[in-house]
Amino acid sequence: MAETIFNRLTIIGPGLIGGSIARAAREYGGIAETIVASTRSKKTLDRVAELGFADVCELDPAKAVEGADCVILCSPVGTYAALAERIAPALMKGAVLSDVGSTKQSVIRDVGPFVPAGVHFVPAHPVAGTEFSGPDSGFAALFQGRWCLLTPPAGTDEVAVQKLDALWRRTGALTARMDAAHHDRVLAIVSHLPHLIAFTICGTADDLADETRQEVLQFAASGFRDFTRIAASDPEMWRDIFLNNKEALLEMLARFSEDAQAMARAVRWGDTAYIEDKINRSRKIRKSLIELKQA
Ligand code: NAP
Repeated sequence: MAETIFNRLTIIGPGLIGGSIARAAREYGGIAETIVASTRSKKTLDRVAELGFADVCELDPAKAVEGADCVILCSPVGTYAALAERIAPALMKGAVLSDVGSTKQSVIRDVGPFVPAGVHFVPAHPVAGTEFSGPDSGFAALFQGRWCLLTPPAGTDEVAVQKLDALWRRTGALTARMDAAHHDRVLAIVSHLPHLIAFTICGTADDLADETRQEVLQFAASGFRDFTRIAASDPEMWRDIFLNNKEALLEMLARFSEDAQAMARAVRWGDTAYIEDKINRSRKIRKSLIELKQA
């Protein structure tokens, strides 16, 4: 195995994603000699200590980053500004500061101003996850074969970017670089809008009369079942994602609403060619996802 990339890695918010990074570092090796975990609640931190995927558990985030040559923010994106302000004075010169947030322009806006001189800020987003949350839900193989998108602002130290890239590749992820604004538009359509639709459709079903709702649950067809799986995701995390990728999400929602109206019109007027064309195009998308091993 090649040399270990980091000496001390601090994970702030070791839930599904942070807990999975720590577990991958433990199980695959070569990522960090020491793993430090910090959360906002003592209860969660005690659970992390019980699970044993961190060498050090520390409630105070500023203490947790002392001496760390890599710090990854893994809490909901709405917490990043306050955390960055809190840890900034304690960050070690030369350290790599990163995150796993699902929105990237907001992270650069919120964290960027607090990054001290000599600390290298490399935002990233592993496009992997499940509907489960908390430290119990993480597992080492979560990132295997999934993409991690790095969105370093122009002028970021290249060695720091390479080190973070290497960390992600050692978790089994594929890595790519992307401009933050482009990232936010792409993720708005492939992830944020589908979640918005899932939360909405479950809400619509819940608003129906009790009797109907019972039937919805009893006879849930796979389509609705898949929506309920997506809609089971963490409310705080998704609230923060929607509010921090507002523009791109609203733009994609407007385009989707137009297309949904066009489909409604085709159904109303019995436009079979339009309906079949849409379904065939969707099937092709599914087929290419399977071929790309991202299904
Ligand atoms: P999660 O399982 O809910 O974990 C979040 C962790 O952050 C929890 O351990 C929570 O601990 C801690 N936390 C919350 N607020 C904090 C604060 N102010 N200071 C310190 N710790 C705090 O969430 P997740 O699914 O891992 O998502 C975490 C991040 O990854 C989010 O930014 C999300 O956008 C991004 N992401 C998620 C997915 C996904 O599919 N889930 C995929 C890619 C990226 P407490 O119990 O103490 O609050």
